[in-house]
Amino acid sequence: MQFKSIDFSKYSSFKIGAKVDVALLQNDFKNLDEFYLIGSCNNTLIGPNPPKLMMLDKMYDSIKIEENMLKVGGATPSGKIASFCKKHNIANFEFISHLPGKLGGLVYMNAGLKEFEIFNHLINIKTPQGIKTKEEIQFGYRFTNINEPILEASFHLEYGFDPQKVTLFKTMRANQPSTSSAGSCFKNPKGDYAGRLIEAVGLKGKKVGAMEFSTQHANFLVNHGNGSFEDALWLINEAQKRVFEEFGIKLELEIIILDTQAKTIF
Ligand SMILES: Cc1cc2nc3c(=O)[nH]c(=O)nc-3n(C[C@H](O)[C@H](O)[C@H](O)COP(=O)(O)OP(=O)(O)OC[C@H]3O[C@@H](n4cnc5c(N)ncnc54)[C@H](O)[C@@H]3O)c2cc1C
Repeated sequence: MQFKSIDFSKYSSFKIGAKVDVALLQNDFKNLDEFYLIGSCNNTLIGPNPPKLMMLDKMYDSIKIEENMLKVGGATPSGKIASFCKKHNIANFEFISHLPGKLGGLVYMNAGLKEFEIFNHLINIKTPQGIKTKEEIQFGYRFTNINEPILEASFHLEYGFDPQKVTLFKTMRANQPSTSSAGSCFKNPKGDYAGRLIEAVGLKGKKVGAMEFSTQHANFLVNHGNGSFEDALWLINEAQKRVFEEFGIKLELEIIILDTQAKTIF
């Protein structure tokens, strides 16, 4: 197996983490259980004790129209998908230009903006075990039960790229901070907003070291510079503790913490 040295303080959107040798997944699908698969770490917080990591090789960075479907490789960045759809006048993927990540991570997280989610137009995924149709997968708000590497996904092909939607999505993001983060830290609990709850327990703008629940959007945990994993974890635990004590609500993480020693309350 080949390895690639990745400096997570540069690679991850949080800009936190050390240099780690990451295995490259090519055509050999043996012993996959030993590794945790990452995409481009736009939803991931890497600790000082990460599990063994693996990423898809660039051979899975591909996008094409075939059999009247849009077929996208698991390692294809969202920006490339957005440009391809614009160039070929393809509809329904306008929201993706504002969602950082690679196709595998986007599908695994069922990433989206409000009602626009990646699963809306999905037909199937290709994994080392074969093809899995959308009907065979459980999915919901930032959730799927996929437990295999997504090598490729096929989507319904509809024409009519809509630039107005791009503008709409840009506006929807206007209140989000541009400081390094991994997007929303917690999932919104049913009928409520994680950001509102964090603000209600006095943690909006709470800064520890260089990590802060953003003053612009409380559910964004941002890194102002040399933020540490420990400070990020402290803030996460403090939010979970205070929100549970005050409202009896368990804030569920949307970001994924990759550290074999770290613990969160929920
Ligand atoms: C500024 C900012 C704004 C954001 N806004 C939004 C938003 O509005 N909506 C939203 O939904 N998300 C948002 N996010 C989060 C992020 O864009 C998504 O979660 C995206 O899907 C992450 O993709 P990734 O490749 O970086 O995945 P990673 O962070 O690397 O991994 C995320 C998860 O996906 C799994 N995974 C990765 N690749 C594969 C694969 N090939 N097969 C199977 N599983 C895989 C990993 O195991 C991990 O569990 C935002 C992030 C940032 C930094």
